Amino acid sequence: MVDLSTTASFKLPILVSKRSKSGSRLGAQSHAPRKRFGQNFLTDQGVITAIARAISPSKNDNVVEIGPGQGALTSALFDSGCAIKAIEIDRDLQSQLRVMFFNRDFMLFNSDALRFDFSELSETSNDLRIVGNLPYNISTPLIFKLLSQLHVIKDMHFMLQKEVVDRIAARPGNKNWGRISVMTQADCEVEHLFDVPPEAFFPRPKVQSAIVRLTPRAKQFRPQCSRVDLGRLVQHAFSQRRKTLRNNLKGVIEDATIEGLGIDPACRAETLSLDQLFDLSEVLPPATI
Ligand code: SAM
Repeated sequence: MVDLSTTASFKLPILVSKRSKSGSRLGAQSHAPRKRFGQNFLTDQGVITAIARAISPSKNDNVVEIGPGQGALTSALFDSGCAIKAIEIDRDLQSQLRVMFFNRDFMLFNSDALRFDFSELSETSNDLRIVGNLPYNISTPLIFKLLSQLHVIKDMHFMLQKEVVDRIAARPGNKNWGRISVMTQADCEVEHLFDVPPEAFFPRPKVQSAIVRLTPRAKQFRPQCSRVDLGRLVQHAFSQRRKTLRNNLKGVIEDATIEGLGIDPACRAETLSLDQLFDLSEVLPPATI
């Protein structure tokens, strides 16, 4: 791979002409990567193949790709014979993608994934297999949005900043255990699959990336508990990480109520298990936010 990281790479058009197994030409047209759309295109064929293998779509899967870009991952996924629905915000990439996949079962939406109603793509319940090398600036809000649409999702595979994957996969007691770990693990199994170095992309990002798989739990955990209340509780409990639970929940939940749940108000939220956080969410007064 050519290293252009020391040049003004965002201004340079790129021409990548590797052929995928399906025979389509990757990035046969030039496109200057756009920073505002978080465009760090995957160029390492070994990494692309490893991601496609991890997803391993079958012919009848309802695959949805967020941000197909120049089609690197899309091509590898098509090798399995599945149909793909893709959501791409950058209009300039649309015609290129349509040409690349004109003979494939490919449906392309020119939309912002943050505003997209994913349930529209669902054909049967829990059928969407969502994948994406996500732009770093939208990854957290997008994950929260998808967590609210889990009833149509079978699984999700994302390339994210490694730091974000570490937070999503963190366990109680770890400094990374916080809002995104709690809200994701409340309803999904989380697997940190593998790390991806900056050299696998063009242009190279400044940070390490990682692949994470999120699978909605077959049997919902604490199904009687409101996820909205859990979200409100977590926002309070983790608002100032160095402070005690007592301080963060001041004026919201009384010490005696916290103690009544068998929780020490002098602890920090990052030491609490998912069960204890659910317990606290159940005693949260309705009108505190
Ligand atoms: N999948 C390609 C790859 O792996 O090479 C491109 C990945 S690139 C990191 C992110 C892609 O998401 C870009 O194609 C970008 O235009 C697109 N994108 C950025 N923001 C988006 C949004 N809000 N909705 C949909 N697509 C978006």
